[in-house]
Amino acid sequence: MRHVAVIGTGPAGFYTAEALQKQFGDQVRIDMIDRLPVPYGLIRSGVAPDHQSIKAVYKRYEKVALSDHVRFVGHVTLGEHVGMDELLGLYDAVILATGAPDDRRLGIAGDDLPGVIGSAAFVGWYNGHPDFADLDPPLDIASVAVVGNGNVALDVARILSKTSAEFAGSDIAMHAHDALAASRIEAIHLLGRRGPHQIAMTPKELGELGHLEEAAPEVDPADLPAESEDAALEPGQRKSVNHLRDFAGRSEAKRKRIVFDFFAMPIAVEGDGKVERIVVERTRLAADGRASGTGERYKIDCGLVVSCIGYQTPPIPGVPYDQSLGRFPNDHGVIAPGLYCVGWARRGPTGTIGTNRPDGFEVAEQIKATFGEGDSSKAGGAGLDALLRERGVEPVTFSDWQRIEAAEIERAREGNPREKFARIHEMIGALGR
Ligand code: NAP
Repeated sequence: MRHVAVIGTGPAGFYTAEALQKQFGDQVRIDMIDRLPVPYGLIRSGVAPDHQSIKAVYKRYEKVALSDHVRFVGHVTLGEHVGMDELLGLYDAVILATGAPDDRRLGIAGDDLPGVIGSAAFVGWYNGHPDFADLDPPLDIASVAVVGNGNVALDVARILSKTSAEFAGSDIAMHAHDALAASRIEAIHLLGRRGPHQIAMTPKELGELGHLEEAAPEVDPADLPAESEDAALEPGQRKSVNHLRDFAGRSEAKRKRIVFDFFAMPIAVEGDGKVERIVVERTRLAADGRASGTGERYKIDCGLVVSCIGYQTPPIPGVPYDQSLGRFPNDHGVIAPGLYCVGWARRGPTGTIGTNRPDGFEVAEQIKATFGEGDSSKAGGAGLDALLRERGVEPVTFSDWQRIEAAEIERAREGNPREKFARIHEMIGALGR
């Protein structure tokens, strides 16, 4: 029998638990610890609320959570309620599946002005993550700059563009829905520091911008490379670029414009006590594919800047951390004997949800190879329970979560799957505690 603790209950955590079950059968006990009283990490708080089909993967994780020998230990914070050294003493293996929930900063003048918001915060806000329930982004404005040309930038631009009716069937947090419905945004500028061939947007997601009720995408045909150059692109990227070509050929007049500003590198945010404009330098592509400034500058008036330029994993006391990579240094998921990492905490914030699966399998195989199936001398979950009890900490179990979930479903607006509790005291309150 082996005892394993998985820290984090997003996709990486669940795929790892699943892989451990495959490796060890019933010879493993897995505790999945989360600082929130609710599971599923990025699926609940990162995947866009209007992408319910992607969120449906939680059903697979639910099966894992409900299977024998797996426990959800919610509302328990590593470093506050239990220490890293204590976990290493209690379990044969501790696996960090903590994701990459922190925003990377733009690192330009004015990036600390009110109204400059990272995508982790903005996405968390519209997805009802308790850390961002009070974000209150400025939306009584005419124009927004969204920095970055990845799928997160697309999500943010789409959410800023949709009408109330287009959110039907989503689980967008009510506070976000209402604030967006009251906003007077007319223009969303998507700033890419490189060109159309260098976008990190997948075709399906990009294509969605072409079907919005009140918003129309705009691409300047002059930014597009010669069509013959598309042949060198891999097929998915070619499809994405085809969407841009389609957008460039349109002349729709809708209430909102989604403007693709390519070769546009933000160099400063300006304003008197809050964001009023973003200063951009035109770029050209160097031979190595990187953007270099041309010296030509222009300004875009905007009352909100959402930077969608990637994420980092926060450090954990007692765990080695690579500041330049923004994650834990590791060798195929091994940080130190008995300590592992998976998912974005291992690889950085790239790939789709399914990309996390092989990570879990690789780490589970390594744990099996290291520990075999022999009997553990560790106290495992019983030891954790005793320690938490001593400290007066009452974890949220999976059946507790199911009660929270039932209450969220119960209070959903008509046609929507759930109305999330956006505050921890509301989640705990649903348990009558
Ligand atoms: P991403 O795909 O890495 O894109 C980041 C973007 O930010 C790139 O366009 C990058 O440009 C730009 N950037 C980085 N630093 C910058 C700077 N200092 N100034 C200006 N631009 C900068 O990251 P992401 O959009 O956060 O997405 C993270 C992962 O989640 C990706 O794998 C993504 O596909 C996935 N995701 C998937 C979905 C979906 O499938 N529906 C939805 C959301 C996210 P350069 O290319 O020039 O570096």
